[in-house]
Amino acid sequence: PYTYEKSRAAFARATRVIPSGIYGHQGPSEGVYVPREAFPLFSARAAGSRFWDVDGNEFIDYMCGYGPNVLGYHDPDVDAAAQAQARLEDVVTIPSTVMVDFAELLVDTVASADWAFFAKNGGDTTTLAVMTARAATRRKKIVLFGGYYHGVAPWAQKLDYPGVLEEDVAHVLHAPWNDLAALRRLFSEHRGQIAGLVAQPYMHGNFVDNVLPDPGFWQGVRRLCDEHGVVLVVDDVRAGWRLDIAGSDHFYGFEADLICFCKALANGYNVSALCGKDSLKDAVSSLTYTGSYWMSAVPFAAGIATITKLRDTDATTRFRTLGTRLTDGLVGAAREHGFTLVASGEPALFYLRLADDDSLGLHQAWIAQMVRRGVFLTSHHNHFVNAALTEADVDRTVEIAHEAFTAVRADRPLPVGA
Ligand code: PMP
Repeated sequence: PYTYEKSRAAFARATRVIPSGIYGHQGPSEGVYVPREAFPLFSARAAGSRFWDVDGNEFIDYMCGYGPNVLGYHDPDVDAAAQAQARLEDVVTIPSTVMVDFAELLVDTVASADWAFFAKNGGDTTTLAVMTARAATRRKKIVLFGGYYHGVAPWAQKLDYPGVLEEDVAHVLHAPWNDLAALRRLFSEHRGQIAGLVAQPYMHGNFVDNVLPDPGFWQGVRRLCDEHGVVLVVDDVRAGWRLDIAGSDHFYGFEADLICFCKALANGYNVSALCGKDSLKDAVSSLTYTGSYWMSAVPFAAGIATITKLRDTDATTRFRTLGTRLTDGLVGAAREHGFTLVASGEPALFYLRLADDDSLGLHQAWIAQMVRRGVFLTSHHNHFVNAALTEADVDRTVEIAHEAFTAVRADRPLPVGA
């Protein structure tokens, strides 16, 4: 199994000069039971479906940079488009028309898009969506489904998180996922006060099995939003471009008023986009909202190459096929070793949980065994597939899973006769 001396040494340096060393979700994956020693902390190089850490260990990467790697690291077509644009210009006083080209492509590709507004992070677009809904309706309240993640703006955080004021979340209402009756009650109780509903296309939360929308749920949400004049915002930051290039709302058979994209939009080049309906174009235009790097041209060129390639190769069909082959293989491997592995969510963004103990320990132990054998997974977050992944990679992953389950089983023998 892998060891990580250089990662540890770099982390020790980092903690002296960077708050918490590596902040946020890309920091040490410290389990409750599994020490952070199971995971590498710094990468040195990436290509295709893999990255190499600073100790030289190679990983088949099922986190994909937490989403951006959709075509493979260093996709040659995307890199060529970005480098060609970089030779011309990137950040300049006035924007390049490549921004217009990219907006036109998004309007042609995304079913609910009549326009595109570009920024940098996913959270830039979810906050822009909230402000747009409030400006358009002149109402204050925002509805979120339990288990949400929409970024780190104060309105999207929890009241008990440090630095968050009561006022920041005073107008945020919570509704249970897949419960139309509850949503109807909430809309009635706050009639005329709700500006927008912001939701992921399905519940891909952390630490819990991911939950798809029940049949008819989204259509019911759409109807309720129409009845109450509520702006329906889909946060497609994570699932976007992996389910359907026309948008995850299109995938589930409805149309959002606003849809947020980031992560996979430009295969790792830094751009996000809020897309929306004509009816909200004046509202979004009225806002004070911009940033130093938001019109940089290189990511626009990369985004055009990314979306074009995803479309021309029917990548989303491949993600489903690969994700299904992988989760079927992992679940089958678990069963052979006497374990119950639950795979949930869409196959392109599968979530895993070993269900054989009530603590998180068994699952974390298996994940650690996978990582130390060269398959990068995380314990309690959904995973991602990318177009550079091959059937051979998937089959190798399942082989490694057998080795990892054998190692876990050695610590937890089955009772005699089981
Ligand atoms: N929404 C969702 C569903 C996300 O997964 C994320 C990022 N994990 C965000 C919003 C925030 O995006 P960013 O970190 O780029 O601001």
